[in-house]
Amino acid sequence: ARLSFKGIAHQYDVQLALQDFSLDVAAGEVVCLLGPSGCGKTTTLRIAAGVERPTTGRVEIDQTVVAGPGVFVPPEKRGVGLMFQDYALFPHLTVLDNVKFGLHQHAKDEREPIALRALEGVGMTRYAHVYPSVLSGGEQQRVALARAMAPGPRIMLMDEPFSGLDNRLRDSVRDEALSLIEQSGASALLVTHDPEEAMRMADRIALLRKGKLVQVGTPQELYYQPVDAEAAAFFSDVNRCAGTVAGGLITCPLGTFPAPKIADGTKVDIVLR
Ligand code: ADP
Ligand code: MG
Repeated sequence: ARLSFKGIAHQYDVQLALQDFSLDVAAGEVVCLLGPSGCGKTTTLRIAAGVERPTTGRVEIDQTVVAGPGVFVPPEKRGVGLMFQDYALFPHLTVLDNVKFGLHQHAKDEREPIALRALEGVGMTRYAHVYPSVLSGGEQQRVALARAMAPGPRIMLMDEPFSGLDNRLRDSVRDEALSLIEQSGASALLVTHDPEEAMRMADRIALLRKGKLVQVGTPQELYYQPVDAEAAAFFSDVNRCAGTVAGGLITCPLGTFPAPKIADGTKVDIVLR
């Protein structure tokens, strides 16, 4: 795995934000961390980035421990790119200087050509010398993406980076981001509360609820084989009714359905999309 969480728990002052959290992100894989507000998504990302130390457990990048008992590698040494919804560009720096800012580890004379290439990647070269305030939200997010990708991170950590954009723009910025990440070979851990976004972008989805992983799998697996009724309901509206299995069938006011492998007489909840 490129990025690995092993038995992570995270306790804020009063809030246990994550528990028993283990997840691998393979090389070149896009994993979406999906769940409602407050379930621990941002905490997970902050722990991966190195802006938060896990209370227990380890984080590994390419099999090397970057956070764990007695070990803590700072964010700038982890080779990760960060992109947030409100990852504000510096208003007093031009677009080009904003992107160059992420390249402080590179030699001075390399920064400009690398930054320009990154801007080209997101179609923003012609805005290199303007200030962020004249750009639209979508353009600013493109620049933020260029800034995050410019240093060539092996892991992109993205926290709801598209949720501030309107629908039409969101689709294009999202597709662009995905194709840039794919081209670069980076792995991505993308946080979202939007099941549609996760379905659309993820190789695998990690569904989080109250600080615990409830299911990890491909979008198809989560949609067609949800682990429980709540997981099913997260992806679409559902109708629910109760019934009792009889003769391998279950009958409720909405019809009769097969109930394979469930013993006759079992009381069940029926969840219908
Ligand atoms: P999400 O990103 O899924 O909305 P967070 O990871 O931000 O969730 O938060 C998880 C839980 O931890 C929430 O209950 C939140 O209130 C709490 N929390 C987050 N950050 C802090 C903090 N800095 N101090 C105390 N509690 C926090
Ligand atoms: Mg969050």
